Amino acid sequence: MTFFVLSLILWMPYFLQGTAKSVEIPYSEFETLLSEKKVDQLVVTDQFIRGQFKEPRKDSKTEFITVRVPPDLAKSLAESGVTYTKALESTFFKDLLSWTLPALIFIGFWILLGRYMASKGGFGAGMMSVGKSKAKLYMETDTQTTFADVAGVDEALDELREVVEFLKKPEDYSRLGARMPKGILLVGPPGTGKTLIAKAVAGEARVPFFSISGSEFVELFVGVGAARVRDLFEQARQKAPCIIFIDELDALGKARTPQIGSGGHDEKEQTLNQLLAELDGFDTKAGVILLAATNRPEMLDPALLRAGRFDRQVLVDRPDKKGREAILKVHIKKIKYESSIEIDEIAGLTSGFTGADMANLVNEAALIATRRKSEIVEKNDFVVAIERIVAGLEKRSRILNEKERRTVAYHEMGHAIVAAALPGCDRPQKISIIPRGFGALGYTIQRPTEDRYLMTREELSNKMAVLLGGRVAESLVFHEISTGAADDLVKVTNIAEAIVTKYGMSPMVGPIVFEQQISPFLEGPYQNIERHIRSEATAKLIDSEIKNLVEDAQKKTKHTLMANRHILEEGAKLLLEKETLTDVEFKPLFEKIVMTPEPHPERDTWVDLPI
Ligand code: ADP
Ligand code: MG
Ligand code: ZN
Repeated sequence: MTFFVLSLILWMPYFLQGTAKSVEIPYSEFETLLSEKKVDQLVVTDQFIRGQFKEPRKDSKTEFITVRVPPDLAKSLAESGVTYTKALESTFFKDLLSWTLPALIFIGFWILLGRYMASKGGFGAGMMSVGKSKAKLYMETDTQTTFADVAGVDEALDELREVVEFLKKPEDYSRLGARMPKGILLVGPPGTGKTLIAKAVAGEARVPFFSISGSEFVELFVGVGAARVRDLFEQARQKAPCIIFIDELDALGKARTPQIGSGGHDEKEQTLNQLLAELDGFDTKAGVILLAATNRPEMLDPALLRAGRFDRQVLVDRPDKKGREAILKVHIKKIKYESSIEIDEIAGLTSGFTGADMANLVNEAALIATRRKSEIVEKNDFVVAIERIVAGLEKRSRILNEKERRTVAYHEMGHAIVAAALPGCDRPQKISIIPRGFGALGYTIQRPTEDRYLMTREELSNKMAVLLGGRVAESLVFHEISTGAADDLVKVTNIAEAIVTKYGMSPMVGPIVFEQQISPFLEGPYQNIERHIRSEATAKLIDSEIKNLVEDAQKKTKHTLMANRHILEEGAKLLLEKETLTDVEFKPLFEKIVMTPEPHPERDTWVDLPI
């Protein structure tokens, strides 16, 4: 548009000068006309002279135009009496270009910028649709993915089958008043197939799949993220039954930190608040199921995990050997491979691999085979590919060497045996030496929320003993301890400290609370302080009580493990072989555990109630 206006303006003088009434005459003729006084109304420009004849010429032309000739030249030419002229060269295109080219470049740039911003969901062409969720772009009505594409995570799939049933027939569920969990959080390390599973749920149920990544909500303008959340849910409601999937929930739902005088977090907070509001506002009876994925559940704002929000968590763990074998079978179908390849053997070589690593392995092996111009992928291609991938993973320290594996096996078995032997402990469900980015026990997920039950002092002490089980097992077997117990020790210390300073359970210190944490969200940011100033003597007493409690628990652990040493050995061997043991698998072994060995000599002292 601008272009046309511009060129019109540039054209104007040429339109005016080039009318049918005008004629182009040599400069010498102009001089003659001038001397004969036949000229009227002259227009003189740098390049030409335009004028009117006093009386129209015979050919009815009323105007003329001539090119200016430098006066000196004109003079000498006139003296010599020649008719002369100068070409009226058209500078039109030159002018046009010099004017419009920069303009064109500018306009082009502007359009590109607009497109780019629009694709980012920002302004420009997208200015009008700032609040429109990009989820629209990601709506897939027919995801071809089904549960058959997902392998090695059977437990997670079992939990989600019910959701599929619900999505297929939401009426059936609402008829009996049953309510689906609103939000289901898929928790697991990167590459274990969380995104794949979410898609498969939609594919199985044959419902639309809205997906968006938490990191996309982190936007340019304050309020855009919140508007987008609103829009996403709005759209989903119209398409129900359907699935909303929020990937990387941690990017959006990071725990809110009170920051004084910093507005930088407003946007995220607004978005998160909007999400919470939508979660509270929507009714699963409408047939919308919210799935989300994270690999850092501990980072999430506790508000997200409260009942009625993401109240169900599904663990998507690294696969064990059997799982890897199943995943390999899914992916190996895509390549031509030698039928003699023993898939379980390859699975055995890939300890620590995730589903994504397995998919990558198949692809690498095929690439290697192609490079050596083979018609078929052979076992050795897999071996080479494994070596290559392991080297990469080792750098990211996800793969354990043989000695580390042994250490971890005894460590985890130590936790499990103590947990099975002492009263009031959560019984082990699954023992695993597959490395995991979170969870100190290696086989249970710790909810980031507070303890849900009342616990007695005895139970707290036993919990400490279980946490120390890993470290004590290591020291019994290898006569040395590793850094692997660092997380356990943090928890042990926290429990011991809470026993003394928070729960008032230490007879020496008495029922006085020394630490009172007040949620900063209730009373502003400055409240997170210790209420009672300790005297130096009290501080010493508290410290020594904490130490006593931990030592006490450690003795209990040692006692338990020594009494069950042979089970520790057998269990660790089994664990090394299978990588993951479910309760069915370790039950026969654990039935032989010596329960609650004879009471501790020191225990009596602290069983006494503080006044
Ligand atoms: P996450 O979302 O947990 O990081 P993805 O779902 O993006 O992992 O997985 C990436 C790819 O790895 C998938 O597209 C799939 O090809 C492969 N993959 C991961 N886990 C599995 C699995 N359990 N079964 C089959 N393939 C898997
Ligand atoms: Mg993902
Ligand atoms: Zn441990």
